[in-house]
Amino acid sequence: MGAAMNDFIYLAHNATTPIDEQALQAMLDCYKNNFANPNSVSHLPGLRAQQLLRTSRKNVAALINADINNIIFTSGATESNNIVLQGIAHHFRQHLSRPHIIVSEIEHASVLRCCESLSLDGIECSLAPVDSNGKVIIETLKSLIKPETCLISVMAANNETGVIQPLKDITTLAKQNGILMHTDAAQFVGKMPFDVSEIPVDFMSISGHKFYGPKGIGALYAHQKNILKTSSIFHEGGQEFGIRGGTSNLPSIVGLAEASKIAARSIALENKRLLTLKSSLINQLKHEIPEMQINGHPIDVLPSTLSLSFKNISAKELLYILKNKVALSTGSACHSESYKPSHVLKAMGLSDSEISASIRISLGKTSNSETIDNFVEYLKKAIQICRQ
Ligand code: PMP
Repeated sequence: MGAAMNDFIYLAHNATTPIDEQALQAMLDCYKNNFANPNSVSHLPGLRAQQLLRTSRKNVAALINADINNIIFTSGATESNNIVLQGIAHHFRQHLSRPHIIVSEIEHASVLRCCESLSLDGIECSLAPVDSNGKVIIETLKSLIKPETCLISVMAANNETGVIQPLKDITTLAKQNGILMHTDAAQFVGKMPFDVSEIPVDFMSISGHKFYGPKGIGALYAHQKNILKTSSIFHEGGQEFGIRGGTSNLPSIVGLAEASKIAARSIALENKRLLTLKSSLINQLKHEIPEMQINGHPIDVLPSTLSLSFKNISAKELLYILKNKVALSTGSACHSESYKPSHVLKAMGLSDSEISASIRISLGKTSNSETIDNFVEYLKKAIQICRQ
């Protein structure tokens, strides 16, 4: 991170990550030396750009063990989620009078808001609940299935709690019932290993800036690409298999591919390091700060993420006290400025006072034992002030 950030403790890696230096260099090289349009195949620079696009697609595909032809570059997970939900709804409207979609209650706003909009348009959407640990309850999800159900969408890991969802079982359930399966893996891919041959989802959303790639770039893994082809949500020029038109953002795609290569070789070690850091953080916090609770599943959780509630504090006030020293978030990071109570913690059954006293800590490559020790000191003092 830059010099200005040297003393600042950044614990909001689920909101976004700093770009990896190697990814940045690859992007700069592309901007300088490979600026041609990969669609302009009538000249050498265009052909070179096309080759770079292909290699990048291969590297992103390799991260999830996918076929290279099933990776569609988009602007990120928000767009990928919308392409899938709107595309599937549009496709099935041609065959069913009222197509039905099931999503979990704890999805990102880009899925939930999309469902709200589809509902106004005659699509039926059901919300699958989670248990008190923040995991989707499979039996209840199963009971929501009906003959018109065409899509199930459940995120791989939640952005606020880090809770990892039982995706394999949900995908099996979807397949058994002939239903398409989508996962928003913005918080999972690049942080945890994912193999689409082991968990054969039909669609998956990926976001570059969550794993040290550039912002504004991501991918959609689409095994069932042809369904989206017939229902592309905007008219376009045929790029990205006719699903996502527009001149390829090659420098960002190259950055995403570089981040994917780095993730593929470093996930295991980095997760080991993060787990050790997180358990040291939890131990110190338990020792130093009374009346604290951990939200979410104790084991099935991202190594980076920790959701906490402290009795008798306002998380909003806590973040205000810490804002010049530490980056954290209350509820969902994307909306931290609006301080809307977290729909995720609410779905898990937390009370309003527990929710307003909750923070999310997300560790990452900028975290080390020194930042954790300093953070505990800052947090301890800030909580004492809040509780006065
Ligand atoms: N889904 C989840 C679970 C997320 O955490 C985010 C980012 N906050 C998104 C989707 C949106 O990703 P992007 O910024 O790539 O559009």
